[in-house]
Amino acid sequence: MLQEVCALIESAQSFVLTTHARPDGDAIGSVLGFAHYLRRKGKQATIINCDSTPFNLEWLPGAEEIQVFDGSLDQIRAIAEADVIAIMDANAANRLGPVGKGVMDSPATKLLIDHHTNPERWFDLEYARESASSTGQLVYELIDADDPSLVNHAIASALYTAIVTDTGSFRFSNVSPDLHRLVADMIERGGLNTSDVHSQIFDRKSPSSLRLLSRMLNSLQMAHDDTISYMVISRAMLQETGASIEDTEGYINWGLSIDGVRATLLFTETERGTKVSFRSQGTDHVHKWAQSLGGGGHPNASGAFVRKPLDKTIKLVVEQATRYLDLQAETPGEDTLSEEDQEYLTMLQAVPRKRG
Ligand code: 5GP
Ligand code: MN
Repeated sequence: MLQEVCALIESAQSFVLTTHARPDGDAIGSVLGFAHYLRRKGKQATIINCDSTPFNLEWLPGAEEIQVFDGSLDQIRAIAEADVIAIMDANAANRLGPVGKGVMDSPATKLLIDHHTNPERWFDLEYARESASSTGQLVYELIDADDPSLVNHAIASALYTAIVTDTGSFRFSNVSPDLHRLVADMIERGGLNTSDVHSQIFDRKSPSSLRLLSRMLNSLQMAHDDTISYMVISRAMLQETGASIEDTEGYINWGLSIDGVRATLLFTETERGTKVSFRSQGTDHVHKWAQSLGGGGHPNASGAFVRKPLDKTIKLVVEQATRYLDLQAETPGEDTLSEEDQEYLTMLQAVPRKRG
């Protein structure tokens, strides 16, 4: 797989790179790191994303060159005439927003570089591994396999950002000794000051974003015997605090920091429906739960968009926890249950089950 991708890169000249809607650190870091690498090899690389870059990533070298898709002739032509289109950190056309259609219709070779589950089938070539911490890690592996001496400060800044943001600063279960070795090599080759990078990404919040955080934390609810936590970001909270959706990156992790919580949910109200984010740890997988709602993601970090109002979505999704986390399986045997617990169990079993 690695050799074939390297051969494709060698043989092609013009590349368009794109990533998912509401791009995060891994999305932006991966497209930028890959673009810098391609240019160092004398290739032409154009980044066209469906959404703009979050403000805390604008400092990354080259971020100003990222184009946001506006349907212009130049962009449509770039997508149609590229030798290769790299789809990064997303494996489904609908994750690419309005860029998706042009990408699918283009005669270009479609190269997937990604670490999500269940890729769609329209890619011509894939460098994809679910167990990878991030797409940024995969990009670094590609560069390393080709010519590690190409790694410079711009490439390392972008890919380090990708890895740091997708691993929760090296604390999620997707972190391995191999990843630490890869990152150590990246830091040395790129001459990175990692403390600076962390400050740029995490310590540039606005007062309004912290006010929103406080409102969100205040909305905390527990369910299913305190094994599920969930929080809400309503449109009113956004309006009243003046914060924006992009300020909320990473906020969901607070819900998972509660002792005994197996999964946490964040419901974000939008004009057209409710965005649901899922996070869990270890073997408590949430991606099938998200998939049942038309979304997807990773076993421990997934999302979906539900075209229902906030309150209806919360009820629907929280009830589904019994099915997707198999909550009853962990409850002690009947003879050890108090009357109260028994009543609770009966209530849980009475919760209607959704198809999926
Ligand atoms: P987040 O909760 O941060 O928006 O998303 C967490 C993960 O779930 C991301 O890695 C993303 O790929 C995936 N994800 C989020 N929303 C959707 C969605 O609507 N559809 C799919 N297929 N995946 C999603
Ligand atoms: Mn990612």
